[in-house]
Amino acid sequence: MKHSKLIVTVFALLLMAVLLVACATVPITGRKQLSLISDGEMHAMSFQQYEQVIAESQLSSDAEATAMIKRVGGRIQVAVEKYFHDHGISDELEGYAWEFNLIESDEVNAWCMPGGKVAFYTGILPVCRDDVGVAVVMGHEIAHAIAEHGAERMSHQMAVQMGGMALSEAVKTKPEETRAIYMSAFAVGTHYGAMLPYSRKHESEADHIGLIFMAMAGYDPREAPRFWERMSAGGGGKPPEFMSTHPSDATRIRQLNDHMAEALGYYQ
Ligand SMILES: [Zn+2]
Repeated sequence: MKHSKLIVTVFALLLMAVLLVACATVPITGRKQLSLISDGEMHAMSFQQYEQVIAESQLSSDAEATAMIKRVGGRIQVAVEKYFHDHGISDELEGYAWEFNLIESDEVNAWCMPGGKVAFYTGILPVCRDDVGVAVVMGHEIAHAIAEHGAERMSHQMAVQMGGMALSEAVKTKPEETRAIYMSAFAVGTHYGAMLPYSRKHESEADHIGLIFMAMAGYDPREAPRFWERMSAGGGGKPPEFMSTHPSDATRIRQLNDHMAEALGYYQ
């Protein structure tokens, strides 16, 4: 009798340990998320992928525009590092290897891979217009990475397809399946470097976090709703790529304005 009680207790403790390990917390919003993948594992895959994208892309020869991307990226990076330092969670940025590149392409697109690997396409610059517009996009894309939305999406797929197996285990026993999950989480196979559409929840969260980071970096957050209005109005003949993955609508602009007072508290 005593023995079985002990087994139940041990089992309960083990289950709690697994759930604790499999859970992460999103900075700023405090949302709990499923995490079956370590940062180290995520970064290793992402860095390899990023290197390949950069090697196979034509980088912009526009020195001024390239400098703008690196300048804004560097300032947002400093803001992120300050936020994490001030909240005693700097260890969560361990293994980050920030990089900001501008790719020559008509595509209206930008993204940030896990571990701080950012790419902007020259096609989005007319919508951004200047440093502040770049900061809106930069803050939003870095927020997706900081909030580990890609790892969360992969974790959900692994939970469904592999019964909650951790990535380190899955890589060893099911390398093909693991690769397929990464490819589908980041749409690597179909469209180079481009991200799959994030869920509405992830979009709203990235908007919120991005707004705080751009304000901390010294960019006026009130530019964010104006940027998304330009994005939805613009695009000319063909619908911009960025729009299909980043739906711009009245809800988004209303939600941004809901967070504006909080963001302005960080803006000097
Ligand atoms: Zn997004």
